Amino acid sequence: MIEEQQQGIRLQAWLRLLREGGPAGESADALCRYVRACPGVQQAYWLGWQERGRIYAHEGRGPDLPPGQGDPLQASDLALYRALQRRRYLSLEQAREQPCWLAGRLRRAGLVHGGLLPLAQPRPGILLVAMAPGADPAWLPELGVLLHSLLAQLPLMAASSPLLNTDPQAAIEFEPDATPRALNAAMQRLLGERPLTEVAALLPVNYRQLVSACLGQGRAIGEVEAQVGERILLWQFIPEPAERRVLARCRDATEELTASREAAVATRLYRLITENTTDLISRHTPDGRFLDASPASWVLLGYWPEQLRGQPVQPLLHPRDRALQLRRAGEALARDGYLTLTYRVRHRQGHYLWFETACRAIRETYTGAVVEVVCVSRDITARVQAEENNRRLAEVVKANTDLVLFIDPEGRLTSVNPSGRRALGIEEGGALPALAALMSGEDFARLQRQGWAAAERDGAWTAEARLLPLGGGTALTVSLVLLAHKGAGGQYYFSLVARDMTERELREAQQRRHQDELAHTARLVTLGELASGIAHEINQPLAAVVNYAGASLRYLNGMADNPGALDKVAEGLHRITGHARHAAEVISRLRGFLRKGQRRMQALDMEEVVREAIDFCAWEAARHRITIVPQLAPALPVVYGDPVLLEQVLLNLLRNAIEANRERHPDADSRIRLRVEAEPERLLLRVSDQGPGVGPEQRARLFTPFYTSKADGLGLGLSMSRSIVEGFGGGLDLEPNGSEGATFYCWLPRRPEDGAGNAIAGEQRTGGQ
Ligand code: ADP
Repeated sequence: MIEEQQQGIRLQAWLRLLREGGPAGESADALCRYVRACPGVQQAYWLGWQERGRIYAHEGRGPDLPPGQGDPLQASDLALYRALQRRRYLSLEQAREQPCWLAGRLRRAGLVHGGLLPLAQPRPGILLVAMAPGADPAWLPELGVLLHSLLAQLPLMAASSPLLNTDPQAAIEFEPDATPRALNAAMQRLLGERPLTEVAALLPVNYRQLVSACLGQGRAIGEVEAQVGERILLWQFIPEPAERRVLARCRDATEELTASREAAVATRLYRLITENTTDLISRHTPDGRFLDASPASWVLLGYWPEQLRGQPVQPLLHPRDRALQLRRAGEALARDGYLTLTYRVRHRQGHYLWFETACRAIRETYTGAVVEVVCVSRDITARVQAEENNRRLAEVVKANTDLVLFIDPEGRLTSVNPSGRRALGIEEGGALPALAALMSGEDFARLQRQGWAAAERDGAWTAEARLLPLGGGTALTVSLVLLAHKGAGGQYYFSLVARDMTERELREAQQRRHQDELAHTARLVTLGELASGIAHEINQPLAAVVNYAGASLRYLNGMADNPGALDKVAEGLHRITGHARHAAEVISRLRGFLRKGQRRMQALDMEEVVREAIDFCAWEAARHRITIVPQLAPALPVVYGDPVLLEQVLLNLLRNAIEANRERHPDADSRIRLRVEAEPERLLLRVSDQGPGVGPEQRARLFTPFYTSKADGLGLGLSMSRSIVEGFGGGLDLEPNGSEGATFYCWLPRRPEDGAGNAIAGEQRTGGQ
């Protein structure tokens, strides 16, 4: 390293001597000293060209070559001189071949290894470099190129002022016509490998105009930019009017300008962000006063940034949050320098919004005291409300008596509500079992086969299933609803809602029992009323008959003693006949009562009567897998009757039909049809079953009171029904045998205006009384 520095100093010394025009010998010595110190060099000589003598003669104080042979006055190196005009380098071997005096001197000095480098400075001459034996002289031509290029720069350096050379900034001196006169070392470095002719590439494009303006106007022109590849040079042109030249100095401002440009870009970006973000960015004093706010304040709070500047933040906070939030914020910022708050803030229009604000404290460098607070706030009202709704929903699910199970897209249970845990024996906080463990194999297979896909397609899937509690125990009959919910990523989550049917089944069974009892009571009441009616009305005449019969018997027995007894007996018999007739009358009145008694004749809503009757025996039918099919013709005419009694008639017919179907199809589905249609003069109701039908012998007795073929039958249904319908002016009968079962038909007259007979009209009037 030191050697390299010394070589540099030797080279500079040579150049300086040349530049300053020192004696030729000295500059020759300086050059030779430099060359001798190069690796492998044995000796170096400077031989100046003697124009008059036409020989190369040694110059300087260094060792000389021995004189050549022959007459020195005859000696000539002209051939060599000419050869060197065409070439930049000649090896010593080649030189020795030349027909010249120097060749002889080389031979005598024994110099065989090395070369000759012709140089034009300070006067034409050659540098003779003798290499040590074995050293490689290949670099010698390169040395020639180096020395030549240094000499080419010499004119510029020669004219430069000492000030220019010591200037650490790159500098060039220009002639008035803008040709470079001199450049300093710093400029040389800047120029790098470029030739001097390319110095214009480092200058501002208009440097010629600048030079002339600078000199012409006698003023310095500063900070003119020149872009050199990636770099930016800032030039300053300074006139030196006395010398008629211009000094141009430059500095590399790449980093400085790039940094300031980047800063400008960053500032613009920052402005874009703050002005366009929907979040509110604000700066505050440590006690909460607004220093600044981004324009989002208008949308979020209803205030423009200018309106907020200088205002305290406190009035914007909800009174209930105010004290607590501010204290918390102050403490946390002083301690951690960072804080996130969720709180209510008042919009200018008076309503409150939920805000989430991230605050950061800016501290004083030395004391660490908080000097400013920067906040980014966001309106999270919608999120808070959604969370609130979710919380309520969660509570509803928790309190629900139905079993609610949440299932993830992979079909795993993720949550079960308390009633689900209770019913399925899953411990609170315990791991959740696989869904398959809670269902019978068949139900689970159905869920896999249909459930998931149907729920994804339709939103919900319903089924009846049995759930198996974990620790064993009775399976629960449930009605399942599987709901599918689409997650944010498009995958499906599921909820399984199971309603325990056991309770419902119990309730239904109870209802059915209740209905049965009601029906039974109704029958008993009807029968009881009838019986007590009969008893009451007939008891008296019967008692009288018994009385008179007893008395007559007594008179007959005492006939021997009492000649007038026969009259008494005759009178008794007469009275008995009277009372018996009375009894018969009572019975006929009772029949009459049934036919025409306390009826509430009114326009009948046939549809309603039919529906009520069907409803009343619906469960009984369902229990035996019987479907009752009502077939009502449209626009039925109005008929009159007592709806309760007509209902009773339909009920009797339906009950008989159910029993008949049950007998014929004990364990299979069957059907009963109830048709209602209008004929010109009457309304026709038909009840058809699929039972065993009615045989010819039975047919004659069907409507006889107390005829029954059933062990628990009363045999009153049909006879009473016929009486009732007849009471309405209609009739009830069995249709001639059809293909299967029995069909009972019942007709009611249409209103007189509709063409019914007068007799019915009369009855109607009676009924109306
Ligand atoms: P009961 O209370 O005995 O059923 P009903 O007067 O209702 O009294 O019926 C009398 C009898 O008529 C029944 O016992 C039954 O033998 C017969 N009967 C009634 N309806 C039908 C029917 N739809 N199919 C076959 N037989 C019937």
